[in-house]
Amino acid sequence: MKTIDDLDVAGRRVLVRSDLNVPLDGTRITDDGRIRASVPTIATLAERGARVVVCAHLGRPKGQVRPGLSLRPVATRLGELLGREVRFASDVVGASAADTVAALVDGDVAVLENLRFEAAETSKDDAERGAFAEKLAGPAELYVGDGFGAVHRRHASVYDVPRRLPHAAGGLVLAEVEVLRRLTTSPKRPYVVVLGGAKLSDKLGVIAGVLDLADRLVIGGGMGYTFLKAQGHEVGRSLLEADQVEAVRGYLDTAEAKGVEVVLPVDVVTVAEFKADAEAVVVASDAIPADREGVDIGPRTRELFEGKLADAATVFWNGPMGVFEMAPFAAGTKAVAQAISEVDGLTVVGGGDSAAAVRQLGFADEAFGHISTGGGASLEYLEGKTLPGLEALED
Ligand code: ADP
Ligand code: MG
Repeated sequence: MKTIDDLDVAGRRVLVRSDLNVPLDGTRITDDGRIRASVPTIATLAERGARVVVCAHLGRPKGQVRPGLSLRPVATRLGELLGREVRFASDVVGASAADTVAALVDGDVAVLENLRFEAAETSKDDAERGAFAEKLAGPAELYVGDGFGAVHRRHASVYDVPRRLPHAAGGLVLAEVEVLRRLTTSPKRPYVVVLGGAKLSDKLGVIAGVLDLADRLVIGGGMGYTFLKAQGHEVGRSLLEADQVEAVRGYLDTAEAKGVEVVLPVDVVTVAEFKADAEAVVVASDAIPADREGVDIGPRTRELFEGKLADAATVFWNGPMGVFEMAPFAAGTKAVAQAISEVDGLTVVGGGDSAAAVRQLGFADEAFGHISTGGGASLEYLEGKTLPGLEALED
């Protein structure tokens, strides 16, 4: 993979695919980690006299222009972090983008509007995506792929544009890949993988990969209930992916066959109503009442998980242990974050919400070896999949 040092960028229009997909509360950015992580590559290019055009997506507007998902506040924040003016184009490949790019002088930075306002960006139709990629690549002379959080997507800006322009990987993508390589190539043992969060079906694939790598798999969060169900327990109104129960049973069998220890919650915090001030009741994980839902791991599970992390030499963590956004249900996530921060070895936190959680709970980035900007991307890498955005950056 070429790096930006291999490109002669001075005076050239460089299209940078960044991952600026930050969590928003209205127009307020609640965690700017991905913007911060994108700054070094953009700053380096600008300092070298490139005319930098940043493209990125925000949320899931599904091909519609959704003013609430405009990248404008993100461009403003990027400007603050860069300490230089950032121009903003109010469309992706329209008149505003053309004018904005044409007006750039050496060292300028512009951000295009949310890529996903254009349905073709994520189209499954190669021709449709390709036609859009032509337009996006059109005004640019070089391409830098730095949006690690999107490299697992076969999207126009990630996959099709670099095939049309001389390209290089940005510093963030290189750093992320280096850490993932260390996680998959003779990691120090015991190697503990902690999984949680909501989207079990998105994460099932990684479990297969992890069973070949890790010594121990610790599972909490919303996905934990499907595991409890697979073990024959009722989970009340907790998050459950009923169509995945069989698959999970298969993974539990495989884990046993491969000698990977699977650690599940032994108690859970439950509520009758999904709200922060609901009365919380801790129950054993095999006795969740039918009318309650689990929103966090319980105190005995916190201790259990802490113990399972105490001797770890390598840790990968993706997915909060509970609904950490509501303070009363953040204790499990906090305990796991604390235990991982105390591990003497390589510790990696991956996932948008997981990264947001550790920062929101007051942990410094330095408490962990690496906070990945990509959840799905790191998971698919660990699964052993070929990531389209990395493939496209190979020479
Ligand atoms: P990441 O972005 O780090 O990959 P996910 O998106 O998979 O993580 O999951 C994060 C979400 O999971 C959070 O919004 C959190 O509230 C939710 N979550 C965690 N535990 C539960 C639970 N027990 N019930 C419902 N939602 C949960
Ligand atoms: Mg998420």
